[in-house]
Amino acid sequence: MDTGKCSRCKDNEATVLSRRELFCQDCFIRFICGKQRKHMGSDRYKVKFSDDVKREKVILPMSYGKSSLVLLDILISMFEEQTKNPRAKIGFEVDVVHINDSKVISYQNEVGSVLRKLKNHYALEKYPITFTDVGIESILNTGDVSSLTLHKDFTSTSTRGSSSVTMDDIFEGCPNRASKKDILDVIVKQLIERYAVAKGATSILWAHSMTSLADEVIALTVKGRGSEIFKQLTDGVVPFGESEIDVVHPLRDCSLGEIEKFVQMKGLEEFLLVPSDSPERMMNKQKTINEVVENYFKTVDSSDDNIVSTVVKTGAKLGEPRNFDGKVCSICNGKIYNDPMNWLKNITHHSNLPPETEVEKESLREWLDMNTQTGITDQESASTNEIDLCYGCAVTVGGFKQGKIEWPVRRDAKHEVEAILSEFIIDEE
Ligand SMILES: [Zn+2]
Ligand SMILES: [Zn+2]
Repeated sequence: MDTGKCSRCKDNEATVLSRRELFCQDCFIRFICGKQRKHMGSDRYKVKFSDDVKREKVILPMSYGKSSLVLLDILISMFEEQTKNPRAKIGFEVDVVHINDSKVISYQNEVGSVLRKLKNHYALEKYPITFTDVGIESILNTGDVSSLTLHKDFTSTSTRGSSSVTMDDIFEGCPNRASKKDILDVIVKQLIERYAVAKGATSILWAHSMTSLADEVIALTVKGRGSEIFKQLTDGVVPFGESEIDVVHPLRDCSLGEIEKFVQMKGLEEFLLVPSDSPERMMNKQKTINEVVENYFKTVDSSDDNIVSTVVKTGAKLGEPRNFDGKVCSICNGKIYNDPMNWLKNITHHSNLPPETEVEKESLREWLDMNTQTGITDQESASTNEIDLCYGCAVTVGGFKQGKIEWPVRRDAKHEVEAILSEFIIDEE
């Protein structure tokens, strides 16, 4: 890198080159904070001057990965600024919510020790920040656990299961890391949203960088979840049942490279929760779709952010798909558009030519073996209901052993909020 003066303050020695501009450390941090401030410029995040301030409740989903640590650091600096004026009152409180998946994923360190270090590092007691740990197994309490089966004719059914299902049972039929990650993503998103509703939160701040949003756009497309892209990329007020929540991605203009520089400068590495699996050493087919895409964006991210930002900009232009069928997916709760299962039925017609060679006959025998449906007993059929699955969830469940997954099917949404509050296993510190 060319050394020289910082192009912003023209005073300090530059230490970072970003977007072809030289920055000193202070100016770089201010530059990144400025990007966050732009997306959190609404009045709800500003200081208040009246005595009876009702603070906005803000949820910060925290994976203890790089981006979420950077956003936490920036929010703390925002609080620092807001308290400089002794008459001003901080306008919002932050609930840092970690969905603890350590029962399903193994980590090199544990979140308790990370949190202790964090609390030693920042003078948090001055600010309205709380930390909440929600066990991933809480998802089992949010619905009636049932066995969902995707049948060969693309219909799907649910059979009321036992109430003693564990997280291991959910992932039992899971064929690989990619579909495990897909189901985990669905669970984390649902727990965060339901927690936010149950707590009466008015905002959710997702810490995705521009790179991880681009990564989501491609990965969702590959996973057949393209109809979710508009939801993932659009910031704004979203209805959740009876509530309305402002969903914001404050770091959506920062690349992963910039996030990594920020982490280094601020010494945030020691607060990272590090998974035991390192995808760098895996073959592509062992990686999750997000990891493959991430790896690709890492190689383009270092030189130029054009590709990454183009993907995000293009994705952000997508609106809600047309042709909502009035059906909701029993797994991800997403709206189902364009009746994908009907479409599949239509393109997979069965009037084929008979097998001719030995290889073809053998293939047909194998296919018939694999496609013989397990018989449903009378007892089961009494409690079996037809359900709807979106295309993405159908693909994932179709890969599970026997096309079957144990899943807590959502109860009547109206009675859900109270149920969730009492059922979440929450470890508030
Ligand atoms: Zn400078
Ligand atoms: Zn779904």
